Amino acid sequence: MTVKIPRPAPDAASLRPETRLIHSGILRSQFGENAEALYLTQSFVYDSAEQSAARFRGEDDGFIYSRFSNPTVAMFEERLRAVEGAEAARATATGMAAVTSALLCFLKAGDHVVAARALFGSCRYVIEELLPRFGITSTLVEGTDLKAWENAIRPETRAFFLESPTNPTLEILDIAEIAKLAKKAKATFIVDNVFATPLLQSPLALGADVVCYSATKHIDGQGRCLGGAILGSQQFVKDHLHTFLRQTGPAMSPFNAWVLLKGIETMQIRIEKAQDNALKVADFLAGKPKLKKVLYPFRKDHPQYELAKRQMKGGSTLLSFEVEGNQAGAFRFANALRLIRISNNLGDAKSLLTHPGTTTHQRFTPEARAEMGIGEGLLRLSVGLEHPDDLIEDLSRGLAAV
Ligand SMILES: *Cc1c(COP(=O)(O)O)cnc(C)c1O
Repeated sequence: MTVKIPRPAPDAASLRPETRLIHSGILRSQFGENAEALYLTQSFVYDSAEQSAARFRGEDDGFIYSRFSNPTVAMFEERLRAVEGAEAARATATGMAAVTSALLCFLKAGDHVVAARALFGSCRYVIEELLPRFGITSTLVEGTDLKAWENAIRPETRAFFLESPTNPTLEILDIAEIAKLAKKAKATFIVDNVFATPLLQSPLALGADVVCYSATKHIDGQGRCLGGAILGSQQFVKDHLHTFLRQTGPAMSPFNAWVLLKGIETMQIRIEKAQDNALKVADFLAGKPKLKKVLYPFRKDHPQYELAKRQMKGGSTLLSFEVEGNQAGAFRFANALRLIRISNNLGDAKSLLTHPGTTTHQRFTPEARAEMGIGEGLLRLSVGLEHPDDLIEDLSRGLAAV
């Protein structure tokens, strides 16, 4: 059988992001398949002992073992890299594997990390509890306060870490300004861009050094597979990440990469529809008497509306609101819903509601939660692809029950 070499696709740089989501990174086998192939293999075979030796020396381009790399995973990495506009991308088994690897691959005992206080629960655990066990200290700051970032810098500060919009209060942190402080401190600036997605916010263009994703969320978009990714410069991957991932093994499964590759193809239309729905739902909820507040970055009453408009191309697919009656009120609201499901996940085609105070953020004291703006009545809604009127009708049931 002859090996077919397809006509080369146009350079990713000349294509719009929507097109990159569908065409970038395809590696075709000799069969010329149209859809990306699933290479469910652990290892690879060599033509000769010489070739195997050359591959281990890094002189022969090719795959060695799926803990290091795999063709389906490589397609996923290349597609996400092209969409993000990064020099290099590496996939991981989960979003948390991405965040943990992005930090541990270059930090060492004696180093110091500055991070925003409002973090995804597990990210905060890694920074606040795990890193200090290995002698890496951290300072958590109020992310919207630029002076607090600046004041937290020490001579041994090596990393800045944040997410924006934050979970679950959807605060917007000024990535460009924080990037300037990170540069001054010579710290590697890592942004967890899960809530914004690569389509709504480009942290690298705003001055960040590394971007992390949980591909579990909008990249899959249909609630099936876990996955993660780390994007940054070739230098960062070569000097730090490459060896760390190879030797410690948080690799993405080829099966998951294959599902995620198909998910990423529809990301643009899904995000557009979901954030359209999110704005409609936020507009419906705003000002309702049983709600203390509604938070959505692209509504004019959001505290960082101007910054959100400057930094993001859309308001995200998430919104949060605080109901009267504290936890009991929030539970009555959640239990009255019949379409929107109670789940701690987000970025799904199905709309999902979370009560952060008793789930994702239950391990914090009430004081720590209050400090993060997580009131007892706060609910987070991940808006899906349903008809907005069906969502609004369901939310009306919740409001009536509060
Ligand atoms: C979900 C999430 C993670 C962790 O991702 P997993 O794939 O569940 O490990 C990290 N950061 C943010 C902001 C998330 O939403």
